[in-house]
This record gives sequence, structure tokens and C-alpha cells, in this order.
Amino acid sequence: MDIGFIGMGIMGCPMALNLLRKGHRLTVFNRTPERCEEVVAAGARRAESPRECARGNAVVITMVTDSPDVNAVIFGPAGAAEGASAGAVFIDMSTISPDETRVIARKLSERGVAFLDAPVSGGDTGARKGTLTIMVGGEREVFERVKEVFEPLGSRVTYMGPSGAGQVTKACNQILCAVNLLGVCEAIALARSAGIDPRRMHQVVTGGAANSWALEQLGARILSGDYSPGFKIKLIQKDLALVLDAARRLRLPLAGAALANQYFRSNEAHGEAELGTQAMFKVLERLGNFSLEGET
Ligand code: NAP
Repeated sequence: MDIGFIGMGIMGCPMALNLLRKGHRLTVFNRTPERCEEVVAAGARRAESPRECARGNAVVITMVTDSPDVNAVIFGPAGAAEGASAGAVFIDMSTISPDETRVIARKLSERGVAFLDAPVSGGDTGARKGTLTIMVGGEREVFERVKEVFEPLGSRVTYMGPSGAGQVTKACNQILCAVNLLGVCEAIALARSAGIDPRRMHQVVTGGAANSWALEQLGARILSGDYSPGFKIKLIQKDLALVLDAARRLRLPLAGAALANQYFRSNEAHGEAELGTQAMFKVLERLGNFSLEGET
């Protein structure tokens, strides 16, 4: 297929490489042009604007940061909507607001362009390996028409329902990630403070009922003192803001998500927004007045 791909970040770049490996013809755009170099070296064509990136392509994928950014690359000056071919399908794989998703879908449909929300889970590792979990909202017929595009990107691709349903599923996923991570941090904090080897504790409990992606991947990064992103704190804060905003409107108490949001706020106050989410552990170190350093 001829695909336009906008956003060559931590996620977008390896996803684009997987599409190229599968034989799709790719045109890519990134606001910071240097971030296109790896995919261009692998055979993609670089566009000068989102409009040029969309031109002539059956599918246009966006993988940018937040709702205003998706709006900017689609409807902004030289935006992808201006370059869209008749009958094109736009697929937004960023994590953004479900409400905003429905507005974008409606505005694009007025131009004869279909829109799917298809946020992903599985982190930078899943993006590289092509094993992402992909949750899709929009018209089922459109999903069926383009679902081969998802094949090199994900190992579990699920149609969730009408426009916005993918983003709501992703919000549920983010509650699980954040609250799970808090448990991982507390377990390591207790092991360290009670004088048992946190690494041995980690090795043991990953073999039991408590195991999870967060425990395996992020627990290992905490134990090796690796706070590089993966998934940045500023991004999970964006997602938790979407979760808590929906909860407020639904009058639904979600205390775990709110607590994780406050812990990450402490990270932000300490200038740690660009670190990976596993840096939540630093908040526990400060609260408990202990340090894992010397043991990493
Ligand atoms: P990232 O590395 O920060 O990349 C963000 C990308 O969006 C960059 O290419 C950036 O361009 C572009 N961008 C942002 N705002 C823009 C704007 N207004 N106009 C044009 N381009 C803009 O982030 P990421 O980790 O790849 O995340 C991308 C999306 O995937 C986010 O919605 C995130 O929540 C979601 N996600 C991330 C992960 C993960 O583990 N990282 C996992 C699942 C889902 P520049 O290079 O010019 O800044």
C-alpha cells in the first residue's frame, strides 16, 4: 500500500521501519526533519509537510503527541487534510482524547476522508518488534478495508467499536499501567528497606501471580538504575489527565489513577518529566528517605 506516516518519534520511527520491511511504500514527515533520517535510509521518501505526506496515499498514519498535535498536522497550515486523496483513510495511532477523536472523524468525513482511532500499547519494545496491541475505533467496514496495515505493527489488533472506542480502551490500559507501576515501585522499596536483595525479590515474583509487563520491563530498568524513556512521564501525565477528565465527567472515583498522577506530579516538580515512567521510583525514594544507589 502507499502510506503516509507523520511523526517519527520513539514510537513512529520503528513502526515506519516495520511497514517498510513488509513492502509498503512509505512517505514520512516529521516536524524535526533529522528524525526522518533512519527511515529515509531504509527506503522511505521524506515529505516537506503533512500535506505532501498525505498526497496520493491511500492511508495516512499519525503518531504524534496529543490532541492539539493531531489537529495541527491534519488541519493546520499545509496539513494532511489539504493533501488527502478522495477515499483516503486516516489512522491516528497517538493516544489522544476520545471526544476530540470524534470531532476529527466528523470533520474529515465532511471531506470524504475516513478516520480510525488506533492507539497502541506495548511500548518502544513492542514498536520495534512489531508486537504492539492495537485497539481500533471507527467504522468496521473501514477497519476491514485497511487492517493489513496493522499486521506488521501489532500482534493483537482488535476492533473495539465506533469512533473513540479505541481511545477509551487505551485510557483503561493507562490506568492499569500507572497503578501497576506504583505497585512495582512499592515492592522494590520494601525489599530494599527491609534488607532483602531487590533483584532476587524481582526474580522470584516475576514467576508468580504478581507478574506483569510493568514488573518485568520497568522493574528491571529500576533495578539497573535506567531511567531513560521508553515512555516519558510527560506522556503518561497527558494520558492520566484524559482518564481523570473522563472520570470527573462520569462522576466516577478513580483513586488509584489519581494517586499515580500525583506521584508523577512530584517527578515533574523535580524536573523529571522527560524521564521514563519508571522514574516514579525516585518519588518513593524521596518520600521514604532511602536510595537504591550503591545497589544498582
Ligand atoms: P515522541 O518520541 O515524543 O514523539 C512525538 C512525535 O510527535 C515527534 O515526531 C514529534 O515531532 C511529533 N509532534 C508532536 N507535536 C507535534 C506537532 N504539534 N506538530 C508536528 N509534529 C508533532 O513520543 P512517542 O513516545 O513516540 O509517542 C507518540 C504517541 O504514542 C503519544 O501519543 C504517546 O502517548 C503514544 N504512545 C507512546 C508509547 C511509548 O512507550 N513511547 C506507547 C504507547 C503509546 P518532533 O520530533 O519535531 O518533536
